[in-house]
Amino acid sequence: MLRTHTCGELKMAHQGLDVKLSGWVQRSRDMGGLTFIDLRDRYGITQLVFNMEVNGTLCMEARKLGREFVISVNGKVAERSNKNPKMPTGDVEILVDNFTVLNISKTPPFTIEDNTDGGEELRMKYRYLDLRRNANKKNLELRHKMAIETRNYLSSLHFMEIETPYLIKSTPEGARDFVVPSRMNPGQFYALPQSPQTFKQLLMVAGFDRYFQIVHCFRDEDLRADRQPEFTQIDCEMAFVTQEDILNTFEGLAKHLFMSVLKMKMDEFPRMSYAQAMDLYGSDKPDIRFGMTFTEINELVKGKNFKVFDEAELVVGINAAGCSEYSRKQLDELTDFVKRPQVGASGLVYIRHGADGSVKSSVDKFYSQDDLAAILEKFGSKPGDLVLLLAGKREKTQTALGTLRLEMGKRMNLTTPGDFKPLWVIDFPLLEWDDETRRFYAKHHPFTSPAPEDIPLLDTDPGQVRANAYDLVINGVEIGGGSIRIHNKELQKKMFTVLGFSDEEAADQFGFLMNAFEYGAPPHGGVAFGFDRWCTIFGGGESIRDFMAFPKNNSGRDVMIDSPSAIKFEQLKELNLKIGL
Ligand code: ASP
Repeated sequence: MLRTHTCGELKMAHQGLDVKLSGWVQRSRDMGGLTFIDLRDRYGITQLVFNMEVNGTLCMEARKLGREFVISVNGKVAERSNKNPKMPTGDVEILVDNFTVLNISKTPPFTIEDNTDGGEELRMKYRYLDLRRNANKKNLELRHKMAIETRNYLSSLHFMEIETPYLIKSTPEGARDFVVPSRMNPGQFYALPQSPQTFKQLLMVAGFDRYFQIVHCFRDEDLRADRQPEFTQIDCEMAFVTQEDILNTFEGLAKHLFMSVLKMKMDEFPRMSYAQAMDLYGSDKPDIRFGMTFTEINELVKGKNFKVFDEAELVVGINAAGCSEYSRKQLDELTDFVKRPQVGASGLVYIRHGADGSVKSSVDKFYSQDDLAAILEKFGSKPGDLVLLLAGKREKTQTALGTLRLEMGKRMNLTTPGDFKPLWVIDFPLLEWDDETRRFYAKHHPFTSPAPEDIPLLDTDPGQVRANAYDLVINGVEIGGGSIRIHNKELQKKMFTVLGFSDEEAADQFGFLMNAFEYGAPPHGGVAFGFDRWCTIFGGGESIRDFMAFPKNNSGRDVMIDSPSAIKFEQLKELNLKIGL
C-alpha cells in the first residue's frame, strides 16, 4: 500500500516511528528555513515539515507543490514544538525524508476548507471537490452509519433485505411517474417506482414475512427545498401483525438509531391522533419541542357584532408568553406573514396582556374589557403575554395558525439545537375530498386499510372513515409513514370504487395485486422512512441535499454531469420516440 498510516491517526505514541502517508496538499507555508505542508486524507490532516538546512533540494521541491496535489511521503514522526490542541494529530508532525508526486492538480475553483469561498452552484458542478470538505464528508459518514445500523438492527429481528425492480409499471402515490421508453416494446413505457409499495406487499403474499430495503425512489414532483426527484427510503413490511406491533418494532429501530448514532437514550414516543394534532398544533406533523398549543374560543366571541368572528367556522389562537411588548411594526409583520398566499389567513387579531395587567386589543370596538378578560382566562394567559387569533374555515384556519405558531416558535427561540422530540401521529383519515375534481383521494395510498369499525361508513360517509395509518414525526418533520394494508380482494376492489376507478381501470392497473390476494394473502402492514431526511435531522442539517453524495439542484438538474440532456436522433428513432410532432 502507498501508506502505513492515515493522516488522522498519528499521535505522541508514534513518536520516532518511520511512516508512509499519502494524501492531498491542503495548504503549505514557508517560514524561513522551514516549509510546512498540511497533508489531508479522509481521516484527517497531518503536518509535514521540510527543513532547508537538513535537505535543501527536497525543501525546494516541496515548495513547488500546489494545492490538491496528490503526494506520498516517507518520514519520521516527531513531537511538535508548537502543538495544536484543536487537531487530533496536533501533537506531532512528520520530518519528511522523501516524497513522490502521485498526481498534480489544477488550482481548485474554490477553497477546500470548512468555510469555503465557493458558491452553491460552483460546488455542485465540482461536487467531487466539495465532497473533500469536512462538513460533507461528515454527513456521508453519518449516512453510512445510519444505513449500517438500520441493516444490523432489522436483520437481527429477521428482516430480509430484498431488492425490487426499478423498471416497473406506475404505482399511484400522489406524484407523477418518471417513465422509461422500452426499445423492445415500441410505444410502451416502464415507470420508475415512486416506492416499492406493491412489490413489498407481493413479498408478503410470497411468505417473506419481514422485508426491508434501503431503496431509491423516484417522484416527478415540482421541486421544493426539501425534495429531490430521486431519494432513498428505508422501506419495510411485515406480515401477521397489528398496527401496535408495527409501531413498537419501528419505534425500536428509531431508538436504536438515536442510541447508536447520537448516543441518545429516548423515552417512549408519545402518540397523538390526527384530529388532536390538527386541533392543538394545526399540523399533521406537529413540532412538540415547545407548547403554545391552540385554544378555541368560538363560544366566547360570537354575537358581539364583529362580523369576521360571527361568520367564522372557527376562532382559534395561541398565547405567546412574554410578547405583550411587541411593537406595532412587529405586529404588522405578523399580520403580513399570515396574509401571505402560502399561509392564507385574511387577518390577525391580537390581545395584549400588559405586564401591568392592562388589556388592549385590535378589536376593542367590539369587545368589552370583561369579554377580553374572559378570553385571556381561557388561554391561561399571564400578564406580559400576547394572544394571537385567527378566524375562518376550520381546517384552513388551523393550518394557518400552525404556520404562525412555528414562526412564533422561531422568533421566541423556543427550540434548542440537539433536542429531539419524536412522536407517532395515528388515526389519519382514509380519504381526502378534492373540491376541484370533486372526488375522494387516498390520504396515504389506495392500499391502506380502513379502521375495521369504520368500514360501514365507506358506503354512507366516506370522508369520516379513519385509516389504520401512522406517521413518525421528529421535530415537526415527517420522517416516515405507513399503514396496515388491505389484504382482501373485495375490500380492495371497493376501495378502488370509492376512489373513482371503474372495474376495468382497477383490473388494468392493479389486477396483479388483486389476483395475488386470491392466493392466501396474509394480513400485513408496513412503513417507509425518508432516509435522506432522517440523516438530515440527525446531522442537524438544513437540506437533504447536503446528505446525498450527488444531489440535483433546485431545477432537478445534475450540473456536474449536465443531466437531463438531449439524446441523439438515432437513439430517439431506436426508441420509437418522435419529438416535436
Ligand atoms: N409506500 C409508502 C410511501 O412511500 C409507505 C408505506 O406505506 O409503507 O409513502
